[in-house]
Amino acid sequence: MITIAKTPVKTLLSKSKIPGFDYVINPYVGCPHKCVYCYAEYMRKFTGHAEEWGDFLDVKECPVPLRPAQLFRTRVMLSSVTDPYNPYEKQYELTRRLLKQLIVCQAQVHILTKSALVLRDMDLLKQMPSCEVAFSIASADESFRQLAEPGASSLQDRLDALQTLHQNGIHTAVMAAPLFPGISDWRKIIEQTRPYAERYTFDSLNMRPAYQRKVMNFVARHYPQALPLYSEIYLQESTDYWQKLREEITAYCLQHGIQGEVYFGHSH
Ligand code: SF4
Repeated sequence: MITIAKTPVKTLLSKSKIPGFDYVINPYVGCPHKCVYCYAEYMRKFTGHAEEWGDFLDVKECPVPLRPAQLFRTRVMLSSVTDPYNPYEKQYELTRRLLKQLIVCQAQVHILTKSALVLRDMDLLKQMPSCEVAFSIASADESFRQLAEPGASSLQDRLDALQTLHQNGIHTAVMAAPLFPGISDWRKIIEQTRPYAERYTFDSLNMRPAYQRKVMNFVARHYPQALPLYSEIYLQESTDYWQKLREEITAYCLQHGIQGEVYFGHSH
């Protein structure tokens, strides 16, 4: 059961600390996609929520529209600590209203999502002077998706949406992240998306102390065979696995002419 509240805010814009972006917009607080590894869960305490992550959603209400003078040709990311296309966006259309304003601002928009609902806004995406939609995919295995990302779109729906966006001339990317050691098959993610993705980023599963126990419990329950590897990486803090994986991915991308960047060691 999810608790939904409308929350007044003074601004929807945050100055970006993410390289490559001037501003970040998070239209919602919370995320019903409820990914087991979600690094944004810290927002729960930050915003005074006692509910479990995924069990609340604050719909931000801002009376002041985005200002074209401030955002003209700036690089804007949606979103960093929520998914702009959570299932309730269908009803509230907050992201859709923001996109309309961003068109007026002529901002360069980068959308990061795990939802095929982004297709609803194809009419607006086509009007953007510069727009890229990136799907984040942690595993090519649908059973992993059901366990780890229960509220997000199925992998097939994400792949179909990626294809549709690409066929409609929208720039597309895949963020293969977070890669779960011994579980995520990054080659398969590339193989499945290659015809429709222009570029890739790869990120490791970074375990912050706040959710390490939750993720370790998830691995122990569903992928017990991988536990020795997790112990080596996260308890003994060996970096060998990531070093080797970085080299493998880099070599693969070079060999296949893929534009890919490996961000291991950095948070999202
Ligand atoms: S989609 Fe992103 S913000 Fe939402 S729960 Fe998953 S990782 Fe967190």
